[in-house]
Amino acid sequence: MSRLLDLRHVISPAVRDLIELANLDDFDRVTEQVRNMRGCTRPVNLVGWTATTDTATKTILRSYSTAEEPTGRLLTACGNRRSSRCPACSRVYAADTYHLIKAGLSGGKTVPESVRTHPRVFATLTAPSFGPVHNQPTTGADPLPCRCGDHHPDDAPVLGTPLNPATYDYTGAVLWNAHAGALWARFTTYLRRELAAHLRMTQKALNAELRVSFAKVAEYQKRGLVHFHAVIRFDGPDGHTTEPPAWATTEALTQAIHEAARRSVLTVESDAVGERAITWGERIDVREIASLGDGELTDQKVAAYVAKYATKSAEGSGTVDHTLICHPCQGRGYTRGPDNFHDLCTDCDGTGQAEPLKDLRVQQHVRQMVRTAWALGHLPEFAELKLWKWAHMLGFRGHFSTKSRRYSTTLGALRDVRRAWRTEQAQLRAGIDASDEDTTLVTESSWAYLASGYRPGEELLANQARHEIAQARDQAERLKAEGEVWL
Ligand SMILES: [Zn+2]
Ligand SMILES: [Zn+2]
Ligand SMILES: [Zn+2]
Repeated sequence: MSRLLDLRHVISPAVRDLIELANLDDFDRVTEQVRNMRGCTRPVNLVGWTATTDTATKTILRSYSTAEEPTGRLLTACGNRRSSRCPACSRVYAADTYHLIKAGLSGGKTVPESVRTHPRVFATLTAPSFGPVHNQPTTGADPLPCRCGDHHPDDAPVLGTPLNPATYDYTGAVLWNAHAGALWARFTTYLRRELAAHLRMTQKALNAELRVSFAKVAEYQKRGLVHFHAVIRFDGPDGHTTEPPAWATTEALTQAIHEAARRSVLTVESDAVGERAITWGERIDVREIASLGDGELTDQKVAAYVAKYATKSAEGSGTVDHTLICHPCQGRGYTRGPDNFHDLCTDCDGTGQAEPLKDLRVQQHVRQMVRTAWALGHLPEFAELKLWKWAHMLGFRGHFSTKSRRYSTTLGALRDVRRAWRTEQAQLRAGIDASDEDTTLVTESSWAYLASGYRPGEELLANQARHEIAQARDQAERLKAEGEVWL
């Protein structure tokens, strides 16, 4: 309660808190901290200090402590990639991904513009069928009925779910998701091998003259299986700075992708589920990315597409966005007592699940995928797949976006640039010139996590900030042609 105000008549706790904040000595600083979050849903609250000392004179040149802040703490954006967790931070992540992909296509951010002339394609690799599902078949432009006899609208929840759940191969579907990353790795190895065969060269001779760079994102289809979208590009021996040889054509790349995808097979052996071959599905789409801005598939379109999927996680499949594993027992259902006997875990009553699978607010098909992943997680032969941990991802262990080392810049580099810029801004505000840094200066700091989220009053300020950001974005979108900007 504030010193001067009697706020008992203000009913809303948020408004009451805002009034308290407004009565602090430096309300402008409170507002500034919230604005700097750019709409972050749950910022991290830190307490701590930093001090720069001149070791020659033993004087403290500058210092900062959260004790000086009006609320006694510093807010920092959560930085979560997923749009279901934090729309604002996921937008920043999407923008970074956009620039990363775009740089690999048209140059910029330390990538030379000549990269634009390298043969490159946009490829989509999908999972095979694990049983017929409800869909929207067409002949050319004409829609046909689904095999169930209905015409399903675009947003029908039944789309992608099995026509006959009793015969659908759930085990195959979950195992496929769980091996999707390994299958991709196998594919990239075979891609180089197929290229060498196609060009009648040895693998060694090929590697000396040519590099294959890629950046990919995973996306869930409605049927709960992941598929991959990838930019695949030819480079010279030193990556994007060198030209690929003239014989490395888009046609050779396209053919090699099809062939490598056809040959990539992983074999999974298990007493419980038999021998399973993990392969790509029939639907493999490879499209050339136009080298000039007028093609069907331009650099901007590809980059915007990839960036959009980089923030989606498993939401497209309608699953939950958190692990289902019971934390205290790590999914085992028991804890080991001091006498070394197994005690039933009291948190989950021995199920190993943080919440019972039957209570999940998801579609029946998704629940069955989760259940299957959980059941397979009991088999020792699948222990390394960590299926309990990844059951909520329907088995997929997840790296949502990956790239080869020499594709372009890195997300880390983009973040560093932003951090450096922010530090510079902060120093300018404090009237400190960063260029007078000397080797005799030592900066020490100590930081600790306090909490997550805003105070109720700050939440009101954050809403206002979000509203203004959304308005500015709408305005920008109206002004610029579609596909030209990513905000
Ligand atoms: Zn955030
Ligand atoms: Zn149907
Ligand atoms: Zn437990």
